[in-house]
Amino acid sequence: MFNKILIANRGEIALRIVRCCKEMGIETVVVHSTADANGMAVRMADESVCIGPAPGRLSYLNIPAILSAAALTNADAIHPGIGFLAENEEFCRMVGEHGHTFIGPAPEHIAKMGDKAVAKDTMKALGLPLIPGSPGIVKNADDGLKIAKECGFPVLIKAVAGGGGKGMKVARSEGEFKSCFSMASAEAKAAFGNGDVYIEKYLSHPRHIEVQVIGDMYGNAVHLGERDCSIQRNHQKVVEECPSPALTAAQRKEVGELAASCVRKMKYLGVGTMEFLFEDGKFYFLEMNTRLQVEHPITEMVTGIDLVREQILVAAGKKLSFRQEDVKFNGHSIECRINAEHPETFIPSPGKVHRFHAPGGLGVRVDSALYDGYAVPPTYDSLVAKIVVHAASREEAMMRMERALEETVIEGINTNIPLHLRILQEPDFRTGQYNIHWLEKFLSGNKEEQKKAAS
Ligand code: ADP
Repeated sequence: MFNKILIANRGEIALRIVRCCKEMGIETVVVHSTADANGMAVRMADESVCIGPAPGRLSYLNIPAILSAAALTNADAIHPGIGFLAENEEFCRMVGEHGHTFIGPAPEHIAKMGDKAVAKDTMKALGLPLIPGSPGIVKNADDGLKIAKECGFPVLIKAVAGGGGKGMKVARSEGEFKSCFSMASAEAKAAFGNGDVYIEKYLSHPRHIEVQVIGDMYGNAVHLGERDCSIQRNHQKVVEECPSPALTAAQRKEVGELAASCVRKMKYLGVGTMEFLFEDGKFYFLEMNTRLQVEHPITEMVTGIDLVREQILVAAGKKLSFRQEDVKFNGHSIECRINAEHPETFIPSPGKVHRFHAPGGLGVRVDSALYDGYAVPPTYDSLVAKIVVHAASREEAMMRMERALEETVIEGINTNIPLHLRILQEPDFRTGQYNIHWLEKFLSGNKEEQKKAAS
């Protein structure tokens, strides 16, 4: 087992990992930028090392600085958290070459799943259904137009290196295809240094259903159920729930087993998420994330399994301590992502938090690195807290979430809590009738469009 883990991340996820390590009796080192010197994870860790100035590329993406910190502090393993270097094949390989264990999958798996066109090919070969579209990368707009016409408009042009909804453009007609193609490619080049794109049919009313999986070094792999992440804005998740209100028991079993069997065949190590779009009773593979997800707590609440703990154990060479039949699903969980942003304009709102009061009580969990007097830096992601509830039924979970959000105090910055409260009161949400387009239609104020997205 590891004696010491270095955490190469920041904010609530760094704190989440520190907390888990403490409970496992493992020492922690948190690396941080100058902007995060007062971060809660830095305060809670046994050791900390400053690895550079505020911009991510000079600190949290600075591989030599992170590896030097690991050598200096004698860390056995490195946990990359979420984002930054979590899905960077080169980093994963270098961590191993420098004698530390990377807490995550093998570099080959990161590479394969990191290129979405390769990921789709791999999953197709393993028997997963795909969204109709180009067989791989589309080299130019002329080739793209041919494929788009075959699929039928609208189509989605997507970056092979994509993430966080960047490098994605919907082309609704032949006339706008070429300009959308160049925009998607340019955005992908700017965001990921790789302008390669592929094309998919743009599904009109899917839900985003993803399956949590975990595998060990001995070929064991199980799934831990699904999460419904269809409440999205700009292709980014806002509210997640587990289980999905849209699936029947048979569909739940089908997608879970499908995902677990792929993971087993791939000999995948660690935690991962297989994402699907679900439309008219059919699942289509979207992508696989080879890391922990922001929304992992809702799976933990329903299964009672600590995913970070299991992730550390399998990375250390332990066998999975449970089989598929041991995994029990209990009640319902919802997560609201609390962002430092205006609830209507979505303008980011960094700055000093004068007063922070987290909600509590039975079935309420708050993953956040906020504290009174903490200044949210303008440099990073706007996520400042995850409010998670668990209850026996979906109805009770919604009531509990409303109560928890009303109890939360975050003064000094704007947050999207008022938006969450509005969503929770909407009849479509209450009945679980929403697809991936619902939130944007709701925000547009167009009731007709919103009704169409309530499917
Ligand atoms: P990223 O890696 O950037 O998050 P994904 O491929 O996971 O990109 O897609 C993010 C979201 O974009 C999905 O959850 C879904 O809402 C939407 N999306 C992706 N592909 C399609 C598609 N073919 N049709 C409709 N919506 C899509």
